[in-house]
Amino acid sequence: MLPRIPYDDLIPLPDMAQHQAYSAQDYDDLGAASKLHGDLQVLLQLTPRELASSASRWTLRHLIAYRLLVRPEAAFLPVLRTDHDQRCPVCSPGGHQYYPQTIDRARTDTLTGTTPRNLCLKTEHELMQLPHGVLWVALARAARPELTGQPRAYPRRERKQAQREGYVNSADAIPESSSPIEESSSEFDADTSHVDDDEHDVRRNKPEEVTANLVSSFLQQALSVCLLQHPDGLTAQVEVRPRVERRMTIAVVTGHVSITAEDDGGICLMRRTDLGWQMSHPYWALLEAKRAFDRVDFDGNKGAYVPTVSDSNLAQYLGEAIITWKGNQSLLPHGVFLIAATNTFMRFTKFSFSRDYLRYLDATTVGAQLEMISDPGKEVFVSMQSSTWFNLQSSDGRRAALCHILALLRWHDAEGSMHHGGDADPDDGDGEDGPSSSYEVNDDTESEMDDGDDMDIGE
Ligand SMILES: [Zn+2]
Repeated sequence: MLPRIPYDDLIPLPDMAQHQAYSAQDYDDLGAASKLHGDLQVLLQLTPRELASSASRWTLRHLIAYRLLVRPEAAFLPVLRTDHDQRCPVCSPGGHQYYPQTIDRARTDTLTGTTPRNLCLKTEHELMQLPHGVLWVALARAARPELTGQPRAYPRRERKQAQREGYVNSADAIPESSSPIEESSSEFDADTSHVDDDEHDVRRNKPEEVTANLVSSFLQQALSVCLLQHPDGLTAQVEVRPRVERRMTIAVVTGHVSITAEDDGGICLMRRTDLGWQMSHPYWALLEAKRAFDRVDFDGNKGAYVPTVSDSNLAQYLGEAIITWKGNQSLLPHGVFLIAATNTFMRFTKFSFSRDYLRYLDATTVGAQLEMISDPGKEVFVSMQSSTWFNLQSSDGRRAALCHILALLRWHDAEGSMHHGGDADPDDGDGEDGPSSSYEVNDDTESEMDDGDDMDIGE
């Protein structure tokens, strides 16, 4: 006889329920989300406290009131994909007649090759002797589980994949070191880069600074080692660099509410002056580093672990993008690229703002805001497209991230970001065109760059 199952066991516990992440793709979805949250539709229906909160405290309710539409994530960021397929120097070495970028092939191959074996067991001295040593040190720091000395406060989840041979325990669950390692004379090892939910849990307490440092180390390798920005024999006038300085923006919405947002660095354009290098455009991309994913799920179709972003993290990305865009209109006429990062993962996102969005942010009454969003002749939304997450512990992840960074630079070339003026003061207008750059600008790219970035949500 079968044992009776207690009734309570048949009811899913609330914390076990799979929360559906925010995913409004069109106005209908936005309307449905609004109904679920007290018919919240526009900015001035947020509480005064919510409306004034800094971007780092935004929540699901801000996603609705600021009218975010998200596209399904893609293997390559749609706005960059066509250009990447035609002009990537990493993926199509020498096969085409013209490439706008030149890379150091040998160093690119080592960056996108296998990860140093026993990454997390090596001394930093040993790692620093390897090519791209700074990156491996930063990667080992981010991959190392955080040992807090506290017992785990949550139950162990059942592993969704067979444990690997040589697996010791979750605290030692470092993908690079816990896999069976064939003795090899090479310092580099085959990829074993998946991070499941348990492994993610032991990294949950990792400070965001560790992740921000990893991403800026990776950007440094991409921009200063792999990419050759300056032809020999010419004095460089501009250079694209990682920005490690955080930048705060304050922008006013609804005519009177000041909101602050601070990023974790990003990619910037530097320009040579008589006094030295000056930051000319700080916002080629923003970096937002977060401590932890909401959860990491196994996707049977993809055969891989897929991180899920919490609604509040998504809202904080949105807040960062909107406030930076609002406060720097002259520098960001075509929207905002944001690199999101969590432990060893990074993903690329692009926020685009519809035609009437700025007027929506500036409308000063609930009535005026409601009128705008119900007028079929007006477009009031922010659209976010995003790549999948790339794990910098895997060679595929590093390669995809490098391809994105190079494509992002070509996008800025085509959009003329290179020629923005000598300082980044938000209210300084467009600035004068700088001296011609030694960074090759290819005028032919323009026609194809906007592929995949259209704002049409009519269907
Ligand atoms: Zn590529």
